[in-house]
Amino acid sequence: ASGYSLLRDPRHNKGLAFTEKERDAHYLQGLLPPAVVPQQLQVKKMIHNIRQYQVPLQKYMAMMDLQERNERLFYRLLIDNVEELLPVVYTPTVGEACQKYGSIFRQPQGLFISLKEKGKVLEVLKNWPERHIQVIVVTDGERILGLGDLGCQGMGIPVGKLALYTALGGIRPSACLPVTIDVGTNNEALLKDDFYIGLRQKRATGQEYAELMDEFMAAVKQIYGEKVLVQFEDFANHNAFDLLSKYGSTHLVFNDDIQGTASVVLSGLLSAQKLVGKKVADQTYLFLGAGEAGTGIAELIALEISKQTNTPLEEARKKIWLVDSKGLIVNSRKESLQHFKKPWAHEHEPVNGLLNAVKALKPTVLIGSSGVGRTFTKDVIEAMATFNERPVILSLSNPTSQSECTAEEAYTWSKGRAIFASGSPFDPIEYEGKTFTSGQANNAYIFPGFGLGLIISGAIRVHDDMLLAASEALAAQVTEEHFAKGLLYPPFKNIRKISAHIAASVAAKAYELGLATRMPQPENLMKYAESCMYSPAYRSYR
Ligand code: NAP
Ligand code: MN
Repeated sequence: ASGYSLLRDPRHNKGLAFTEKERDAHYLQGLLPPAVVPQQLQVKKMIHNIRQYQVPLQKYMAMMDLQERNERLFYRLLIDNVEELLPVVYTPTVGEACQKYGSIFRQPQGLFISLKEKGKVLEVLKNWPERHIQVIVVTDGERILGLGDLGCQGMGIPVGKLALYTALGGIRPSACLPVTIDVGTNNEALLKDDFYIGLRQKRATGQEYAELMDEFMAAVKQIYGEKVLVQFEDFANHNAFDLLSKYGSTHLVFNDDIQGTASVVLSGLLSAQKLVGKKVADQTYLFLGAGEAGTGIAELIALEISKQTNTPLEEARKKIWLVDSKGLIVNSRKESLQHFKKPWAHEHEPVNGLLNAVKALKPTVLIGSSGVGRTFTKDVIEAMATFNERPVILSLSNPTSQSECTAEEAYTWSKGRAIFASGSPFDPIEYEGKTFTSGQANNAYIFPGFGLGLIISGAIRVHDDMLLAASEALAAQVTEEHFAKGLLYPPFKNIRKISAHIAASVAAKAYELGLATRMPQPENLMKYAESCMYSPAYRSYR
């Protein structure tokens, strides 16, 4: 191992932080300028450099460059400046990065498994330099955020999610594997784009698609064992629900759009109980958008209501209504509905449009999960504010351009009475001399800690009760001080501590359910979770 290659190995490179002794011992003399600089100063320099960039995508590229050059510095920087850098490596900027992924592409940061690799997926996995993989985030790029089909360029999402698994949840970077399954794209613009990096064909569907996914799932289990966590991310809903149920009984699988989102939103609603003084079971819910996020959240809320009130799930579901692109989901539409919508087809006359649905049902909680921006119009918010003292309004769609309304709109149109959170962050706003800070209802609160909990307990399956445990653990981190500001979520700056709490609760539930395999059960799961978390401090090389 020459010093020169050490400097080019992002996992081991420390740049100017190599000490004199290390420089002597590892043939680094002359390859670095004389100054020896501690990690803290490197962080200071990097954050200063990143702040110079005015364009978010440039900040993103600077972060990706750093990740490819000095991994520990990348994570130190991200952890120490999480509130500032989350919007750079994650939503909203990651959305733009995916749209332009072909032209900004430099180094592959994950595995691309395309139809060309059909029949040799196991060999492809063996090309990856690491064998001890604990978490895979996989997408097929068909529904990237609310931006639609971005094909192979969806790779930005697994890369970004896994960076958060490490920074927020403490999973070792070497144990993380980003994967993009490329079966083509139906995005005409990308198919014509010279810089597009994926297969130039329409999406394969049906058997051809199922076979590639099957081969991938089998290969993953064969090479990494049955405790590897496979997180499905940003699949279109016509595949997402089926994949989750198909592999849910054979693999440790988790769909973040369905389950992670559900857990984070339920957590916000548990917090809202204290702010609004109404129990989860006493609210009436209306969703705009009845896809993965919408129906996933709805189902977990129903589960919570059914536990709170000791009523059957079918009864609990009646407090929850969803609107899709064809209007309110009602009984008369039942025959033509996709299977995941059928449980929500309640008895009601047909209603067109969100505003009419709001007026007809008088919800206390309005949740946007449509992927379409600016759909919570002034009329809609004003209507919510006429029959609610404190209307709860969640605009979950990402990135910012797709948010159902802005924070400013939610607060001004409700005359400062809305309890608001959004999927992508908004800056605090001023309204009538008061500052309103909104929370970020984003699954990034849940999945890193959730995954850590699965890993430290050696869980072999995901169970809905683990999602509830995660919701409660997150809600327990919201303090009086946060409530006073109208926040439903704690700030991201303490996220590693929060993740450890979530991990401990999820792990405890795994043991309770008999789904854990790591024996004996650690006595203090919180301490154990924290002790397992990756730290980006430099190691010394002797
Ligand atoms: P999805 O499965 O494609 O569902 C989208 C739903 O919205 C569908 O039911 C669709 O109706 C409906 N819809 C689309 N346009 C509409 C319109 N103009 N009016 C009414 N309904 C409309 O997508 P998803 O996975 O649920 O994701 C949706 C959004 O949630 C995305 O923007 C995503 O970024 C966001 N999301 C946020 C988080 C978070 O943590 N904050 C997590 C996951 C997802 P049809 O069924 O009739 O087509
Ligand atoms: Mn997602």
